[in-house]
Amino acid sequence: MAEIVRERYAYDRSKLKPRVLHIGFGAFSRAHTLRYLDDALDTAGGDFGAVVARLNSGADELSELDAQGREYLVIEADDTAMRARTIGCVVGTLNPQRDGVDAVPDLIASATLCLVTLTITEKGYCLRNGQLDRSNPAISVDLENARAPRSAIGVLVEGLRRRREAGAGGLTLMACDNLPENGTALRAAVIAYAGAVENDLADWIVGNVAFPSTMVDRIVPALDAAGRELVTKAAGDENAMGIVCEPFRQWVIENSFSAAHPDFAAAGAMLVEDVRPYEEMKLRMLNGSHSFLAYLGALAGHETVADCMADPVFGRAAQMLMLQEQAPTLSVPADVDLDAYAKALMQRFSNSRLGHRTQQIAMDGSQKLPQRLLAPIAAHLQTGAPWPLSALGVAGWMAYLRGKSETGEALSLSDPLAGRLLEIAGGEDGATYVDALLGVEAVFPQPLAKDPRFRQAIHEAYRAVRGTGVRAAIGAACDRHD
Ligand code: NAD
Repeated sequence: MAEIVRERYAYDRSKLKPRVLHIGFGAFSRAHTLRYLDDALDTAGGDFGAVVARLNSGADELSELDAQGREYLVIEADDTAMRARTIGCVVGTLNPQRDGVDAVPDLIASATLCLVTLTITEKGYCLRNGQLDRSNPAISVDLENARAPRSAIGVLVEGLRRRREAGAGGLTLMACDNLPENGTALRAAVIAYAGAVENDLADWIVGNVAFPSTMVDRIVPALDAAGRELVTKAAGDENAMGIVCEPFRQWVIENSFSAAHPDFAAAGAMLVEDVRPYEEMKLRMLNGSHSFLAYLGALAGHETVADCMADPVFGRAAQMLMLQEQAPTLSVPADVDLDAYAKALMQRFSNSRLGHRTQQIAMDGSQKLPQRLLAPIAAHLQTGAPWPLSALGVAGWMAYLRGKSETGEALSLSDPLAGRLLEIAGGEDGATYVDALLGVEAVFPQPLAKDPRFRQAIHEAYRAVRGTGVRAAIGAACDRHD
């Protein structure tokens, strides 16, 4: 095993103040958002300490982090090298069950705070077709009791209400989840919710709060036993919240702030006028291929993405999917080289140090399919270009929902629509099943779901997956591109 190179922050931690709030302190934020902040403090200075919050769980883990002085390790690893960095930018932790429902809204109201970053997963935004879903129980319950909210959107709006009352000035709310135009999506949810609480509050937010969109990229799997062992080895002891990720990282941020902010550019982030081309590139080529590998790989018995990449059938398909079905749907700035991007992705997916489980990526498919696979398919239907592999990705999701791999393992389903999807998957298999899933409007936008060309291709792909098996179906789809 390669030697672990140790590194730690060099800034004076005692100068940090609670100026950044991160909501959704999971694996990704530890290795990306806060890793960038740590670097920004090292390279550009400042007093931007972070308070990290989890709204629904994880109080014990946060207390463990407090007990170890709020420092934790990020290990950047691939098959040739390992670097362990001690992160020092966390100055506080918050959890409503431990600290009370006022703790997070009160911090949002503090004049010291200038930025809120969020990684609350796609479902945390409570959206349906880009708008706040007021029928989502998390939202309807909070709207009944808006001063003591529990959802992320409810907590943000209550915090902003208190901030306006306190005269604490503007604030930036920065979504860092894999959603298309995530800033616009967050803004839509926050303003719709605020309008339902009080019209003037929605107006105040429009005038005082910025919602920059961001493209975030770093592969950070949930920590497994091998990762935990690595963290313990690097720390010389147990290290709560230690995490393992790939060496690569990228962050593209829309340059739109309503208050002071850390110098993320000094840490390597790109600040741009329009994030959309970068975000589409990443959502389609990286996340779209990930979902393809996750559903079809899990069905074929592959446990991790690296296992898929070691299988020549999957490796060939991933490259063809990226270059022949995803890249052609993109319009990127002149300095972005999509061939080189795909080549780098192939290498990143092959990193066997990560143990990125196909069943982890398979989670929340109903929230992910539209932007990852269906949007590029809609583009192909307009131009008439072929998309056999994308069709297999969608069919793979459908087959995955039935709960069993070709090698007989159980496939777990974790999805906000799990109840409905499992009910459909409990029924008869075959064409009736495909039709029933195509009728789930929260996943398949109606113009697409009604398009006969789309329906026929998905039916054919599903028949191939079930009839010839995943690997043969993939091989045949690749042959159509040759
Ligand atoms: P994780 O499971 O480790 O953490 C998820 C966090 O979201 C937790 O803090 C949890 O409390 C919070 N959360 C979950 N559901 C929520 C809800 N309904 N409301 C509020 N908070 C909620 O996952 P992670 O690896 O940190 O990934 C989180 C998100 O980050 C992803 O969904 C994705 O959008 C983005 N992301 C992750 C990666 C990655 O490689 N892990 C890469 C790019 C982007």
